[in-house]
Amino acid sequence: MVALGLGIALCRRLAVRDMRRTSRFEDAFTLGLIGLIIASGFFLEGAKMVSPAAFDRMAADYFPAPDEAGMTALRAYWATDYGMVFPVESMPREAFTPENLDTGREISEMSCAPCHSPPASAFVSAPLSRLFAPAGAGLVDALWWLHVLACLFALAWLPFGKLFHILSTPVGLMLRGLDPGEAAARPDASAPLARAVGLDACTHCGICSRHCSVLPAFLALHTPEILPSEKLLTMRRLAGKSGKLTPAALAAFSEGGFVCTECMRCTVVCPSRINLQDLWLVSKREAARLGHPELSVRLRRFGPEVWERLARRKRPVDRTLAASPSLLDNPETFAQCVQCSVCTGVCPIFRLPDIPAAEVDVSPHQLMNLVRMGLAGHALSANFLWNCTTCYKCQEHCPQGIRVADVLYELRNLAHAKVEEAARAGLLDGMGTPSPDQGDVP
Ligand code: SF4
Ligand code: SF4
Ligand code: SF4
Ligand code: SF4
Repeated sequence: MVALGLGIALCRRLAVRDMRRTSRFEDAFTLGLIGLIIASGFFLEGAKMVSPAAFDRMAADYFPAPDEAGMTALRAYWATDYGMVFPVESMPREAFTPENLDTGREISEMSCAPCHSPPASAFVSAPLSRLFAPAGAGLVDALWWLHVLACLFALAWLPFGKLFHILSTPVGLMLRGLDPGEAAARPDASAPLARAVGLDACTHCGICSRHCSVLPAFLALHTPEILPSEKLLTMRRLAGKSGKLTPAALAAFSEGGFVCTECMRCTVVCPSRINLQDLWLVSKREAARLGHPELSVRLRRFGPEVWERLARRKRPVDRTLAASPSLLDNPETFAQCVQCSVCTGVCPIFRLPDIPAAEVDVSPHQLMNLVRMGLAGHALSANFLWNCTTCYKCQEHCPQGIRVADVLYELRNLAHAKVEEAARAGLLDGMGTPSPDQGDVP
């Protein structure tokens, strides 16, 4: 079974490239602990195979009234067939006669074979026993203690490490059922107990991260918390005893949380059937509660006057855009716009019946015009910029082929880069207004 499990794990690792993009110390530690249990078990069995003391204990239990000749015959047979290494004084060379071996085989088949497997079935321990006989025979006690202590340590560590999923995954499945869609729809699917069990049920297999819709964002930004498997671990730390993250870890957690598109792919593919969708909603609420709301919420705190000043600052080089030419800097981007307002007409945001007027303060065609006229400050302060769903309808329908949605994306990135750069320069305080200590943003 162990060999089968190792084979499956190895095939999975080799066949599925990039199965897991990050590994932690705990992953290596868990593998090491399991490896120690397996290796010490194999070595212990190997040592027992060549241990005369183990043989004597077994013979006393199952061959209770042996005569000396019978014991010698049995020893000779086991030494020949099982590779047992007896001290020379108890097994002289002349004991290995064909008659003795036949007698030993009969006794063994009568008393030992019914519950003792042939050495060939121990296909790992038997070769090991040949390797370290006769010295291995003296290691039986030490190997027994090593094996038992490793098993006990693994049991004691079970509630604190990733192996806890052995218990929590079945409990989670009982709570949520096998169908993730059904799980999400159930009224109790969001219960705190189900969430707590879900956090512990993760095996860190990485399947969700392989299928994550925003994997390209991780490849560009390298923030591990963008990957669902890593975000879940951070959530577990946050829900843990101390419940504290460093400011940098909190910022990464928030970035990972709000990059998520809530596409639900991770929930559908998770083999532990964790309701990840529900956990992501909770994680976003928690990030906001801890002072790291969605980027757009933070950026909207700036008033138009701040954006006007920021827009005048030298444009920072944004790490995600550095490799691609800027649409905003190219006059050709907007040259063909005839202000027909088709882009605004097809925009689903402008069709929402109850949307407050302040949220649609500037329309897509007006935004294109503002940027064309060099009024990026006005464009950056528009609430609508952050309400756009990036559905690309405007771009698809524009009769002039203007890349409307791409421009909106670039404006968002520009706003973020400018705020980050100004914050790094100490020009903004934590609330998103010009710092009184720093004076005006130049
Ligand atoms: S959340 Fe599910 S799919 Fe993702 S790493 Fe954990 S067990 Fe694997
Ligand atoms: S719901 Fe979020 S974390 Fe899950 S696959 Fe979609 S984008 Fe990735
Ligand atoms: S961007 Fe296209 S659709 Fe929008 S106003 Fe200009 S030409 Fe019309
Ligand atoms: S991409 Fe944004 S601006 Fe364009 S149609 Fe969709 S929501 Fe409206």
